[in-house]
Amino acid sequence: MIQFAATAEEILHELATLRAADAPTHGGKVLSYVYDSGLAALDDLAAAAMLAVQPLNGLDPTTFTSVAAMERDVIAFTRELLGGDEDVVGTVTSGGTESCMLAVKTARENFRGQGAPRLLAPASVHAAFHKAAHYFGLTLELVPVGPDGRADAAAMIAAMVPGVALVVISAPSYPHAILDPVTEIAAAAQAKGIDLHVDACIGGLVLPFWPDLPAWDLAVPGVTSISADLHKYGYAPKGASVLLTRGRDRQRAQYFASTSWPGYPVVNPTLLGSKSAAPLAAAWAIIKFLGTAGFAELATSCHRSTGALLETVAGIEGLAVVGNPTGPLFAVAVDEGVPEAGRIDPHHWADRLKSYGFTAQLQPAFIQSDGSVLPRTTHLTITPVTESRLPELQQAMIQAGTDVRGVPGIDPQRVLGPADGPMAALLAGAAQFPRNSATARQILGAMGLNGGGLPSAMAPVLALVEALPSGVTEWLLTELLAELLEP
Ligand SMILES: *Cc1c(COP(=O)(O)O)cnc(C)c1O
Repeated sequence: MIQFAATAEEILHELATLRAADAPTHGGKVLSYVYDSGLAALDDLAAAAMLAVQPLNGLDPTTFTSVAAMERDVIAFTRELLGGDEDVVGTVTSGGTESCMLAVKTARENFRGQGAPRLLAPASVHAAFHKAAHYFGLTLELVPVGPDGRADAAAMIAAMVPGVALVVISAPSYPHAILDPVTEIAAAAQAKGIDLHVDACIGGLVLPFWPDLPAWDLAVPGVTSISADLHKYGYAPKGASVLLTRGRDRQRAQYFASTSWPGYPVVNPTLLGSKSAAPLAAAWAIIKFLGTAGFAELATSCHRSTGALLETVAGIEGLAVVGNPTGPLFAVAVDEGVPEAGRIDPHHWADRLKSYGFTAQLQPAFIQSDGSVLPRTTHLTITPVTESRLPELQQAMIQAGTDVRGVPGIDPQRVLGPADGPMAALLAGAAQFPRNSATARQILGAMGLNGGGLPSAMAPVLALVEALPSGVTEWLLTELLAELLEP
């Protein structure tokens, strides 16, 4: 008899206690990270589907044939939705990052040019492509976007020189929800024989139902691959995305196969080896349950809510929506067009919104390679559940605006303290720092950012992100997260 260390009841009680401290995943209070359909039946179905496949290993669909069957269904559904024909093939991956990374890996394998392959994208492209370039050894070339957050087609096309292995644009971009000019850029890429990936991770399962859009998917000639996250507007639990690729031969480069070891022959379409089939099963079940009409209904709800919220922002003096957002998300910045006393700093606004129970996402100002600055913003992702608490959210947005109107945003130059102060001295010596964990802790301590837990106001933290060189911030944030995970 095994002497168990605890009863299942005790363990699940402990888990429930831990879960109680999490941000709410349902109900529309958190306006990023979670995509709540508002339909309990969907969550129950997903849970049952996950349980049904719990013991499977998705590594080998020849042994566990249900995995292949579900994957074929999901690919068929998304291919049709995203304008793909018989020549389009695909893979279910573990998420948007993996889909993006595989699109880049495939392009690199297929690259026939000279020298180090380049990845060309607008500055608004998701950081997953920075990660892909880093992992797979491509040089990332970011082309500045306009003040409206949109990829500059002419500048992108001018940058399509030999050596570019892949061009990436977004449908829409994550930071500002801007739909890039797909047709124009794809035509130029095709003429030059360069592959083009449309990152529709966030838009892929909702834009097909958005009214009045120009063409943006696989129906556009020159688009060679597209990613769409099932765990965003596919309403599946985390761990599912699709990558669709035009042309079998192009896509085969995505695979890794090896018989050069004494073990089982390895053939992997994705980065993982052994993997869960649970997110795939959940996504598959949800697709069967909703069908195209169900997805359309949910998208229409998002469209209504987003329209109403954009109107709300338009009515708040001092805030302005960035560009012309497409899809159920948008970013707000300060409205520079009103006198200072009437302006609203989007980060103070987000902190106030939080005090009214709604968590929006703060995004730092960003300096592009040409020196132009994209302003700090606050990002809101709208999901079907938003409609159920629309008046409450609108009221909170208006009230938060009233609360902080005229309060100047935190100046990143000032946040580090006086020029002759300890923080400035510490950072002046940044180049000489030993980049180790102990030094990072010391700096975080001096900033009052050690000891776990997030500060109550996020605006000062984002101002720090703006103030510090990105290499320093990346190092410090790595330490912050790593510390959180240390026993
Ligand atoms: C979410 C997102 C990604 C990355 O996806 P993950 O699922 O978070 O790994 C990439 N691109 C865009 C546009 C996204 O919105």
